[in-house]
Amino acid sequence: MSDEIKKMADMLRKGAKMLSQVCPDCGVPLFKIDSNIYCPSCGRKAVIIGKESEVGANEVKTILSLHDTLISKLKYLEERIKEEEETDKLIKLINAVILHLDAIAKSEEIRKKWAS
Ligand SMILES: [Zn+2]
Repeated sequence: MSDEIKKMADMLRKGAKMLSQVCPDCGVPLFKIDSNIYCPSCGRKAVIIGKESEVGANEVKTILSLHDTLISKLKYLEERIKEEEETDKLIKLINAVILHLDAIAKSEEIRKKWAS
């Protein structure tokens, strides 16, 4: 999953546009570079039958980078949990993890909505 997101972020960085259509083989959103359409997961060219539509590039970039940020914060929280011995502080950290997981799940939900 995070590998896929990395590939998608790479394509956006190269100036590709994310389409609302998905790859028929793997279900990942298709990307358009110049006049070619690719699946970032299969690494193959795709052809869209019918009308292609784009998802706002800024929205996509924000959600993708937010997702990455939340994952890195989660790693930081995990390190803190490993070292923390006071129950009060542990509870606070665990609550923060739950909130982060919630936000990550929501950002993935949004991504799926764009892909459908
Ligand atoms: Zn694919």
